Amino acid sequence: MFESLSDRLSGIFDKLTGRGALSEADVDAAMREIRRALLEADVALPVVRQFIEEVRREAVGATVVKSVTPGQMVVKIVHDELVKMLGETAEPISLAAAAPVPIMMVGLQGSGKTTTSAKIARRLQNREKKRVLMASLDTQRPAAQEQLRVLGEENGIETLKIVPGQNPRQIAERAMTAARLGGFDVVILDTAGRLSIDEALMTEIADIKKTTNPHEILLVADSLTGQDAVATAKAFDERMNVTGIVLTRVDGDGRGGAALSMRATTGKPIKLIGVGEKADALEEFHPRRIADRILGMGDIVSLVEKAAEHVDAEKAAAMAQKMAKGGFDLNDLKDQLAQMEKMGGLGGLMGMMPGIGKMKKEMAAAGLDDGIIKKQVAIINSMTKTERKKPDILKASRKKRIAAGSGTEVAEVNKLLKMHRQMADMMKMMGRKKGGMMAGLGSM
Ligand code: GDP
Repeated sequence: MFESLSDRLSGIFDKLTGRGALSEADVDAAMREIRRALLEADVALPVVRQFIEEVRREAVGATVVKSVTPGQMVVKIVHDELVKMLGETAEPISLAAAAPVPIMMVGLQGSGKTTTSAKIARRLQNREKKRVLMASLDTQRPAAQEQLRVLGEENGIETLKIVPGQNPRQIAERAMTAARLGGFDVVILDTAGRLSIDEALMTEIADIKKTTNPHEILLVADSLTGQDAVATAKAFDERMNVTGIVLTRVDGDGRGGAALSMRATTGKPIKLIGVGEKADALEEFHPRRIADRILGMGDIVSLVEKAAEHVDAEKAAAMAQKMAKGGFDLNDLKDQLAQMEKMGGLGGLMGMMPGIGKMKKEMAAAGLDDGIIKKQVAIINSMTKTERKKPDILKASRKKRIAAGSGTEVAEVNKLLKMHRQMADMMKMMGRKKGGMMAGLGSM
């Protein structure tokens, strides 16, 4: 992505940075070339004008730092202005509202709305441990609801049951009710698109907006359509007051005009970018990183993020292996309890692990609910290292000491130990079954 613009700019910068001193004429020539490069990248003219003006002003006022060449200075100024133009800071999707949080997806047909709905749902489920329900309100295209259902199935995201004959507003209402009753954190409403903006479409989505009061209204636009994407975003925003933009097909966009003009033209942040057809091909839009990418400085942060995801997956797989071998001690239980809390308590965790309904029941029977996770951790904290590794040595006097240390009762210590034993047994058993819970843990 952004290759052609990036190539053009690096050519210009090579000329600049290779020299010791720069005359005003050199800078002028460079500015003209940058202007041309941006226009060729399909950046909106007013945005280009403002950009060049700002760079020039900064360049004139800049204090020359000894250790860098004037050319490098210009690169830095262009970089900073590019970041400004892109919106400075990343603006992630906000979920700061009462659950279930409605997120409404709008945009033209073919912009990538349905695909993006699934990508966002997957991201919220995997990274933020939210339970997400998706619903297609597209009654125009016969296959639309089915398309979302299939995407949901492929990615382990629940979709609203399809009831033929309902209108979009009825489906939206049903989705909200289902999400409330089902204890979902987020509802993604995928609305219908048209080939172009028309009154019927706008009325329909305005109606859905009124019914569901979405916390986020995300406009999905195709990066490859360049300035048309920006015009579409503007039109939707004027009618709907969108909260953010998702730019799709950025992977195939060598020019980047839509990404570069969107913020400056609409005043609305690009929150996410689609970078491929696969369900995980969605990235947060970080203005600084995008600027780095465009200027050919590499996107190291993105790489680190990806690496971190892998480390987490490896850790989970190692843990799953250990459990399967029967080496699940109280330290591991403590890790699991801490993890549970992080993932939004029992509800959140259980919603995510496949084949775990049975275990949930048994844990509830053992008296483990969200309120006592902290207490359980306190009990384990009051044990010695050896006790955690070999709970069998815990007899009456040790239990008394642990109960006193954690401000609990011996009965509660016993309960924890019993639960641990049951879990360890169950894990050992399930570990032997192929495709059981261990498979689920490994891919978490
Ligand atoms: P909708 O009509 O707006 O719901 O569009 P769809 O979600 O059905 O997407 C239309 C096509 O665009 C599908 O073939 C998607 O796989 C593809 N698509 C969506 N987002 C991206 C993206 O970020 N990159 C690429 N390369 N393809 C995408």
